[in-house]
Amino acid sequence: MPRISSVLIKNLIRKNELTFLTKKINVNNLAEERMAVKIDKEKCVACGVCVDVCPTEALSVEGDYAVCNAELCVDCGACIPECPTEAISE
Ligand code: SF4
Ligand code: SF4
Repeated sequence: MPRISSVLIKNLIRKNELTFLTKKINVNNLAEERMAVKIDKEKCVACGVCVDVCPTEALSVEGDYAVCNAELCVDCGACIPECPTEAISE
C-alpha cells in the first residue's frame, strides 16, 4: 500500500479548508445580496493586475478587457485600488 506523506495530507486539509471558506463566503455573499465590481471597458487596458490580486479568481481578461464573474466575486474591493487605469468600481 503506498505511503502518503504528512505534507500531502496537510496540503489536502488546507485545500479543503479553503474550499469550505470560499463556499461559506459565497453563501454569505448571496444572503446579503452584494454586487460584483464593475469594469469600465473603455478604461481597461487588459493588463491583468486585477486578475492576480483577486482572491476568488472572479476576474479574467477576455480579449481587450477584464470581466468579473459575479458568482465568484465576494466584493472584497481588493482589485479596485490596484487597477492602474481606475477601470474598476463598486
Ligand atoms: S472585489 Fe474582490 S472578489 Fe470581487 S473581483 Fe475584486 S478582488 Fe475579486
Ligand atoms: S487592472 Fe484594470 S486595466 Fe488591468 S485588466 Fe484589471 S481592470 Fe483592466
